[in-house]
Amino acid sequence: MELTGIGVGSHAAVGEVFVLRTSDEVFEHKTSTHSADEEASILGTAIATTAATIRDEASSGDTTTREILDALLIILEDPELQEMARPHLDAGADAPTGLFRALDEFADLMGDDEDFQSRIGDLRGIAARISAWTRGLAAGPGIPREGRWIIVAEDLTPLETSQFGDSVVGVITELGGPTSHTAIICRALGIPAVVSATGAMSLEQGTSILVDPEGNRAVVGGDISSATTAISFIPQADAPLITVRANIGGVADAEKASTTSARGVGLFRTEVLYLAASAMPSVDEQTSLYIDVLKAAPAGKIIIRTIDAGSDKPVPFLALPHEENPALGVRGFRLTAEHHEFQRSQLTAIAKAIAATGRDVGVMAPMVSTVSEVREFKALCDEAGITQVGIMIETPAIVPVMTDLVGLLSFVSIGTNDLSQYLFAADRMHPRLGALNDPWQPGLLRTIRTIAESARSLGIPVGVCGESAANPLLSIVFAGLGIDSVSVAPSAVDSVSTALSAVDADSASHSARVALAASTPADAEAAVRALYS
Ligand code: PEP
Ligand code: MG
Repeated sequence: MELTGIGVGSHAAVGEVFVLRTSDEVFEHKTSTHSADEEASILGTAIATTAATIRDEASSGDTTTREILDALLIILEDPELQEMARPHLDAGADAPTGLFRALDEFADLMGDDEDFQSRIGDLRGIAARISAWTRGLAAGPGIPREGRWIIVAEDLTPLETSQFGDSVVGVITELGGPTSHTAIICRALGIPAVVSATGAMSLEQGTSILVDPEGNRAVVGGDISSATTAISFIPQADAPLITVRANIGGVADAEKASTTSARGVGLFRTEVLYLAASAMPSVDEQTSLYIDVLKAAPAGKIIIRTIDAGSDKPVPFLALPHEENPALGVRGFRLTAEHHEFQRSQLTAIAKAIAATGRDVGVMAPMVSTVSEVREFKALCDEAGITQVGIMIETPAIVPVMTDLVGLLSFVSIGTNDLSQYLFAADRMHPRLGALNDPWQPGLLRTIRTIAESARSLGIPVGVCGESAANPLLSIVFAGLGIDSVSVAPSAVDSVSTALSAVDADSASHSARVALAASTPADAEAAVRALYS
């Protein structure tokens, strides 16, 4: 049996299926044989023990996941939540039941708060682990530490991916797309995955399976020798055809990037620094955070993106109101209108950190769609003393007016994750729309060509910093389309650099022409792959 989906990563793996499905018993509401005081003490210990375990599991993971989990654990550790559980314990509930009921009430209290509601599933996931620990059941997901496991799930949350240890050698998800949390984390951890694999949840526990990301498939009983061979690029030049930089979210990522061949940072997602802050940090506090990151970042240019909050990126202290359609709401640069003070403080802190470290830094704004917004951002940067100003190209609207930006910008960077979601009107996190967010979509590739031509006419460099650039073949296509640099997760820097050192300008241009001629993503990928296989 073979499942087809969207491959993430380049090496294949064989392991046994481990289906992540929490036993129903974990969620059962039960009465207790102990006193309410005893159950309250059990609940306190269970929360503390589980929180310590989760923090420990997440400690070697990526910064974003750690920050998200920390924000969730702070909610669970809040004594108020245990107080909300108390009346249920008094009424005879056991500790997990009290906790589940308290969480239900808490969720009701939070009403439509978008950030909270988007995390409630994760909170219940942590509560399930607390319940499993208390009731002596196999803890929720409970991935074994020994063996070689292929994790199979509908989709994965930060809580689940934070538990991945060395025994996880592959992932298959029924839902999700190339920019889903699962795909981003697997790419960062170097774990091969096939997402959007219809039929995955019917796989049986313990079945041996081949995860073949290059072939965009998973094969039951498949042998590693039958995996689609990853193209082995042999470097022909000392340096990649175009510059390869790293995407980072904080100091840990900057340090990781410094161990790779990255020539600087092409995207520093600054919202990650603010995820756990409950109040607006002062300029001095922000400056010291930026200095730490700039010092740790790999040699070369560093591109800092101003805060990209809203939609899928919660930043608690900005207290963003509920929106019916947050991806099309007040997010990214649009927040400036209401958070002028914060935007100014961020730019001032960045300018101070540049002065303190002497690093070569460009600053760009996310989610810009009009020439007026570009002028406004440029004015704010001028005021802060920032000289290299750029924008992300993430909305279809900015593409046709790029040629009107003469003299305003020093660079632009294409965020293919958002550009795809807005071009195709397909939520990038939507578990069923992965195929529309496929970066080989001809509609996306031809738009990138237009952007590259406009950047050339403006005389400014253009990079790609979305997840798509982590695919070595696509990075070659981008070079051929006239892109000057790519920026990718630290774990993908070396493979992309190797691919880009194996080609010359002529073969990159030819690859781009071949990709542009295709009218489906599968044809585009197959045609370019054939050039290098
Ligand atoms: C993008 O949209 O492609 C991008 C790089 O930004 P983010 O993923 O942080 O929205
Ligand atoms: Mg984006």
